[in-house]
Amino acid sequence: MRGVPKIDHLGIAVNSLKASVPLYVALLGENPEAQEDVPSEGVRIAFFGTGTGRIELLESTREDSAIAAFLARRGPGLHHVCIVVDDVDEALRKARGAGADVLPPGVRIGAEGRRVAFLHPRTAGGVLIELAEARP
Ligand code: ZN
Repeated sequence: MRGVPKIDHLGIAVNSLKASVPLYVALLGENPEAQEDVPSEGVRIAFFGTGTGRIELLESTREDSAIAAFLARRGPGLHHVCIVVDDVDEALRKARGAGADVLPPGVRIGAEGRRVAFLHPRTAGGVLIELAEARP
């Protein structure tokens, strides 16, 4: 994957997809490629674009979701940076070796049915980093 773009997407927490999507449609000139509920995370998401470098808007669907907690603490805004990896288990091993903590439960099935994991921002330079395997 040398030389290939590594930012899969930027995740932006919003209070409401309905209220937030129109600005991105205006900016990007297209409707979201996909909207999806991810019940395991308590979020509904809208993806703009295809391939790498996409924008993901995240709305909470549960009061106890991580996005609800983020919105309550910090308000809407940049929530995470997703880096695409070949093998999420291998990437976690290397990240742990470099001093990063992995958020429980570790590897999980995220949006688009992909295997993903998150690194704790406290151990990753203040940024919540999502690691996602390339789409199957
Ligand atoms: Zn994401």
